[in-house]
Amino acid sequence: EIPEIASPTRTKAIMEAYGLTFKKSLGQNFLTDINVLKKIVSAAQVSTDDDVIEIGPGIGALTEQLAKKAHQVLALEIDERLLPVLSETLAPYSNIQVVHQDILKADLEKLIARYFDGKHNLKIVANLPYYITTPIIMHLLSTKVKLAGIVVMMQKEVANRLAAKPGTKDYGSLSIAIQYEMDCEVAFIVPKTVFVPQPKVDSAIISLTMKEHKSEMPQDETHFHKLVKGAFMHRRKSLWNNLQGLYGKEADIKESIEKALQLAQIEPSIRAERLTITEFVKLSDALLVNGL
Ligand code: SAM
Repeated sequence: EIPEIASPTRTKAIMEAYGLTFKKSLGQNFLTDINVLKKIVSAAQVSTDDDVIEIGPGIGALTEQLAKKAHQVLALEIDERLLPVLSETLAPYSNIQVVHQDILKADLEKLIARYFDGKHNLKIVANLPYYITTPIIMHLLSTKVKLAGIVVMMQKEVANRLAAKPGTKDYGSLSIAIQYEMDCEVAFIVPKTVFVPQPKVDSAIISLTMKEHKSEMPQDETHFHKLVKGAFMHRRKSLWNNLQGLYGKEADIKESIEKALQLAQIEPSIRAERLTITEFVKLSDALLVNGL
């Protein structure tokens, strides 16, 4: 019987057989621990009810474990060199499609319509290339496709920022951008030692699920996101200072900011990191009402 792709010896043997080196520029740190891979698949609760999209299959270690549980797996890999490897390593599985594709340029709606039957839940499961973790999450958020869940591995620091609660040092515009749309939870931590080559930092598996109803909607989402970014521009400064940085320091503008803060019942001296998403929504609407 062929051993799992994930073992360190098989990973090295495969890379050698194809004369391949790991491309740092593409975030190629491959997982070589079968238990971690299985934990990722069970954190995503993958079953035959699910069609799964994997971002960056590498040599197929996670893809293989997904295929054992899922209905169908679609794996998107940017590195052309890995395609012949994947067609060999994944040959035993009839429910996997590998496509040569940059995830950031992928039209998920089109891919899904082409490769899936539309009768199954859609999940994203991946060990992400770390150099583009945030752009990938933003790209997934921006698609209109209804995703039943996203379970992805990323740097521990970024995972902590995504899942951070108000009042903590990790809480910022990224936490709000994500949590506005999704419930977000760190499932478990993965030590850097289970990767080949070993990255500099530990990793975490994060589980994201679309909120059934966005709890609170600002009148203008673009305005809301601009406000959140601006409010965190200088973390050490007060909200009052950052709002002036965002809207201006002229007397009439200051007056409007003051009125908006009053209307939203928010202390000007507070720091942005103390504000909940609900408060940001209130503030965004109050600023609009006051012409900002
Ligand atoms: N899934 C494998 C594993 O867990 O061992 C490999 C994960 S490795 C951290 C990230 C993978 O993403 C690499 O195979 C890399 O070539 C691929 N990748 C990097 N940038 C990508 C992009 N923009 N679109 C699709 N895949 C990408």
